[in-house]
Amino acid sequence: MTKKLNIDPINTWINNEKDPLIISGPCSAETYDQLFETCKQLKSHGINLMRAGVWKPRTRPGTFEGNGEEALKWISDIKKELDVQFTVEVANTNHIELALKYGIDILWIGARTTVNPFSVQEIADSLKGTDTPILIKNPINPDLSLWMGALERINKAGINKLGAIHRGFSMTGKSKYRYVPMWKIAIDLKSNLPNLPVICDPSHICGNRDMIFETSQKALDLGYDGLIIESHIDPDNAWSDAKQQITPKTLSKMKKDLKVKSTKEKEKSYQHLLNEIRENIDDVDKEIIDIISKRIGLVEKIGEFKKEQDLTTFQVDRWNEIFKSRIDWAIEKGLEKDFIEDLYKVIHLGSINVQNKIINKKKANFKI
Ligand code: PEP
Ligand code: MN
Repeated sequence: MTKKLNIDPINTWINNEKDPLIISGPCSAETYDQLFETCKQLKSHGINLMRAGVWKPRTRPGTFEGNGEEALKWISDIKKELDVQFTVEVANTNHIELALKYGIDILWIGARTTVNPFSVQEIADSLKGTDTPILIKNPINPDLSLWMGALERINKAGINKLGAIHRGFSMTGKSKYRYVPMWKIAIDLKSNLPNLPVICDPSHICGNRDMIFETSQKALDLGYDGLIIESHIDPDNAWSDAKQQITPKTLSKMKKDLKVKSTKEKEKSYQHLLNEIRENIDDVDKEIIDIISKRIGLVEKIGEFKKEQDLTTFQVDRWNEIFKSRIDWAIEKGLEKDFIEDLYKVIHLGSINVQNKIINKKKANFKI
């Protein structure tokens, strides 16, 4: 069940008049000069909200892991110098305390943190009583509940300036993306929480420069509220995520070429995708009904057989076996144990009902 979240409209906490809203800056704050120059160029192209990684959650240790507090000092100077706003990633209480001390405008929770409810709860507890907006990236794994759970935890701590960032999902198998977008998950998030601002991160989705434009356009066509795109004055020599960063100049060209749809058109795009998914659900439901009807046919056969052989309709061994095997099969498919248990209680009781009617010579009537 979806809990309604209290969310302040995005235009009350981000200046999103710019169409499209673009947050940009380097993957990592490497040096003062790199950060200052990147931000200066971005600002000259009309971008006022900068991103920069200060603590870098790298997959393997031993690579550059961010400049920490030192980088926050640079950010604080650059904010004053260029009159820009900043967002940085935080992953624990210490990060939050420092980020707030240096006047960071917006915090974001990274994909590797969203997966862990312990960490998200720690962050939520540290945020109580603060008013800084929070953006929550999707978890690395394609799990909508985990994403929604993180949003709920932060919202419960009294943070109403809240948004989500869709950065794609880690999947096995080949893909042209670094992190597969699985747009349906973000659309489901938006349909569960219609007032939640959702920002797309094409840089991490693509993992390369070539697909950033088309992925950004797709996000805008789907009605996303903005984009967060990594940029660097010298992308090839970036200390992290070099392949996916673009120069502020390339970003500026992209920004001009991106087409933003009107709210009506955005709604239509969402509606179109929702309808497509609903049509698929209709087809699946028809298959379910077909299969249930097939199953009842078999149950009726058993009913006739038990009547002939004078057997009881309810046989405890079979009941136990059904519960055990179906739950095992369902878990293998990633389904919830409780859900399948409930479903099979209904199906099995329905079968007994059908058989009883046959044994008592009444016409079968399967009611769920
Ligand atoms: C980043 O934004 O640079 C980053 C580390 O993101 P993610 O949490 O999406 O991997
Ligand atoms: Mn990055």
